[in-house]
Order: sequence, then C-alpha cells, then structure tokens
Amino acid sequence: MVFCSEYYGQKAEDLHERERDIKAARGRILDCNGTILATNRSVCTISVIHNQIEDPEAVIAMLVKELELSEETVRKRVEKVSSIERIKTNVDKEVGDKIRAYGLAGVKVDEDYKRYYPYDTLASTVLGFTGADNQGIVGLEVAYDSYMQGTSGKILTLTDARGIEIENAGESRLEPVNGNDLVISLDYNIQMYCEQAAEKTYIKKQADRVSVIVMNPQNGELLAMVNYPEFNLNDPFTLTLSDEEAALLSAEEKQNVLNQMWRNPCISDTYEPGSTFKIITAAAALEEKVVDLDDTFYCPGYRIVEDRRIRCARTTGHGAETFVTGIMNSCKQVFSLL
Ligand SMILES: [Zn+2]
Repeated sequence: MVFCSEYYGQKAEDLHERERDIKAARGRILDCNGTILATNRSVCTISVIHNQIEDPEAVIAMLVKELELSEETVRKRVEKVSSIERIKTNVDKEVGDKIRAYGLAGVKVDEDYKRYYPYDTLASTVLGFTGADNQGIVGLEVAYDSYMQGTSGKILTLTDARGIEIENAGESRLEPVNGNDLVISLDYNIQMYCEQAAEKTYIKKQADRVSVIVMNPQNGELLAMVNYPEFNLNDPFTLTLSDEEAALLSAEEKQNVLNQMWRNPCISDTYEPGSTFKIITAAAALEEKVVDLDDTFYCPGYRIVEDRRIRCARTTGHGAETFVTGIMNSCKQVFSLL
C-alpha cells in the first residue's frame, strides 16, 4: 500500500467513480438556403452495471422483451462481472423511455444520437456518412469531422468499494459541447433537378453511371454534384447488387464494391475535357472575329491530320453546315478548321 500507493489509488478511483459519456450532438449539414441535409435523431444506449443489479432475472427478462434480443445474448452480458456492459446502441427513444420506466436497479439508459439524412440518396457521394460512433467515414462527413464532432460530456457517479452507487452522493455532470453546423454551397433544388436529369439519362443511354456538376462561374461555388446511381445514406452498407450476386462475393470483394459505390468520381477521377472545350474555342473565335455565325463549313465525316484520319462523331458526315449548326452538331470538322 505504501510503495504502490499510486497504483492502488487509481484502482480505487476506477471502482468508486464510474463515468458514463453524455454524447455531444454532431453538427448538421445545411445547403445554401438552410435546408437540412444531415441531422441527428435521438436514440438511446442501454447498459447494465453488474454490481448494482438487484434482480438479475427481472433485468434479463425485461431486456429480452424490450430489445428483442435472445436470452442467451442478454444473460451473458448481464452476468458478466465488469464495471459497465453495453447491451444495445441505437435504441429508439420510445423504447429507451419504456426501459427507464421499469426502474430496475443497475440498468442505465443514456441519450445518444444517430446520424440521419432526411433525403436518403440526395448528394450521397458528396455528403458521405458516419460510422457506429458517429465518426465521419467518407465525403464531407470525414473532411469536416473535427468541426462537426463536438466534445462529449460525462456523468460521474460516486460508488462504494463494491461499486454500488452511494445514495445521495449525487451525480456530477460535465455538459457536452455540441459540434458546429456545416453550411455548404450546394442548392437542394438544383441538386434534386440534376439527380432527376441524371436518372433519365442513365436509363435512356443505358449508361454505367452519370455525373453532373453545376458550378457558379463567378466564384467556383458548387451548386450541385451528382453521381448517379447514388446510394442510401441511411443504409450505406447495403449493396446495390441482388442477394444472389452479393452472396458470391468474399468479404474483400464486398468491401471493394462498397468503396466503388461510395466514391465520388467527380472529384476522384480525371476526365478529358473533349467536346466541352469546344465552348471555349467557339467563344474565342467569335470574340476575335475569326468566324461569323453564318459562315459555312462542309463535313465529310473525317479529316486527315498528318498521318491520321480523325473521324467526326457522325462518320457519314454532317454535310454542309453553318457555324451555328456546327456547334449544334458538335462537329469536329468545324472546330478543327478554326
Ligand atoms: Zn461533322
């Protein structure tokens, strides 16, 4: 006791003071008009403190009934000699309130939060989602994790040597500090419209995927970023494959499919500008008066440049066309002549 006073002192403190976290609410994600894109739902975490349980059979029966768990699972945890044992997380608030109302000694119901995305798939690859402990996993949720996380508070309970709460010793609380909200330039309405347009194109062109970016050219703010098909942020671990297809995959393959589903090709991939650059060429040519809107061109469907034959999108040729119809046809012939 003399030589190891620090060691035993710590042990005694661990036994006498029991800490339970008070979760901080994670900051929300809002669009440029204040529409809530990511928020929190109140849920509960149910735990038991072994030494405080007076009627283990009653506790087991109640938890099995209310939490719809097997008796074997609950019994193992209730009978385990530990300072605190977590029974279930993400329990609906109504169920938590009901469990609290039983008033059984040794059962603790703590308020917790579960991330919730009101629009399920909206901007899924941009927003990203959080894990079991509300930490960001991908997207903005991980990029701004430290801003949104907040700081958990604590409930300190004084107990006697056997770990039983001292009557009237009171609980001291260290209040949690909630996370900061994140306001982004995305516009819910524009995003929604683009997702619908992307879906139509996806079906019509039988594409593997469709991406859309809408940017404010004055300042580069992103108003919409779509990667169709999007995934459900409230259920991000369910594959978009059929059950039979999913059953054939190994754990590693499954993770790869999930990573593919979660990634944002708009910012993760490079894409050759190609025809989109024709807008710049056309604008420059008009400004420098190199070309007039009524100038005529002839497209035979290809053009020989040095040793190679560059084909137009329409291999049979667009024939005679003006500069305006050339732009409408996105004709390579017209733009390579400028
Ligand atoms: Zn052409």
